[in-house]
Amino acid sequence: MKVGIKVKFWGVRGSIPTPGVKYIKYGGNTPCVEMRLPDNKLFIFDAGTGIRELGSMISSGEEKVKAYIFLSHFHWDHIQGLPFFIPSYINGNEIIILGMDMKDVRLDKIISDQMESIYFPIKLQSLSAQIKFQIISEGSLIIDGVRVDTMYLNHPGQAMGFVVSWGKVKICYFTDNELVPKLATKNSNLKYKSDTKEKILKLISGADLLIHDAQYTDEEYKTKVGWGHSSFSEVLSLAREGSVHRLALFHHDPDHFDEKIDVLVANCNCGENQGETSYVMDCFAAHEGMELHF
Ligand SMILES: [Zn+2]
Repeated sequence: MKVGIKVKFWGVRGSIPTPGVKYIKYGGNTPCVEMRLPDNKLFIFDAGTGIRELGSMISSGEEKVKAYIFLSHFHWDHIQGLPFFIPSYINGNEIIILGMDMKDVRLDKIISDQMESIYFPIKLQSLSAQIKFQIISEGSLIIDGVRVDTMYLNHPGQAMGFVVSWGKVKICYFTDNELVPKLATKNSNLKYKSDTKEKILKLISGADLLIHDAQYTDEEYKTKVGWGHSSFSEVLSLAREGSVHRLALFHHDPDHFDEKIDVLVANCNCGENQGETSYVMDCFAAHEGMELHF
């Protein structure tokens, strides 16, 4: 069996879950991506509703679970599944939640508050697994022997992007990011950073996989400036500039049902050869259940 990295999408929808027959192909669960590294290390990116099914799958065996959950930020669609993550309820499991502090609110309080009795019947303190918190900020860190680079993104209230490097493999998770706020910079009410694209380019250069927020069409983006998400075309140009090998369009808009996503991907001609180079990027819209190997 090939020893490498597996990436599996458990939730790819942005903002709110979208159940229903119009969403069968791409799925309706909110963001959750599983990354299996050699030695069976488990990294999970975001705890949207997709994490529920992942949790059921990994807790079905006899083995104890050790999972690192990286939270990009704390908007509902990224943490809503956490109270339903079954491994948290099993004695002997170890769950490490990594994320930012938000202003003066600590990471552990942000997470425990969503399990207060007003919102949920079981408190964080009642969970049987060992739950640990690791506050992270922008920079480089080593998690269980694996290098992870982090970067603050353009999103209301802030979000964080992650780059995992293992040997020669580089996998990037950047969601909830307004990539090129060139329109936004004209709006004095927005405090977005203008050097985001340059900083991301350095991090993603030559990446094997870039998972990036592509919530809007160019037309939709015109009325969503400052909402903290990107358009297909901006993400494509970023990935090409960064010579990324595979681009997974992610955080699909709740109004983008299956047929619409199919058309959007077909129209962006993302797999076409660019200019005179032989570089061809593999580009696709991520869907629930999709598994990639590196
Ligand atoms: Zn989101």
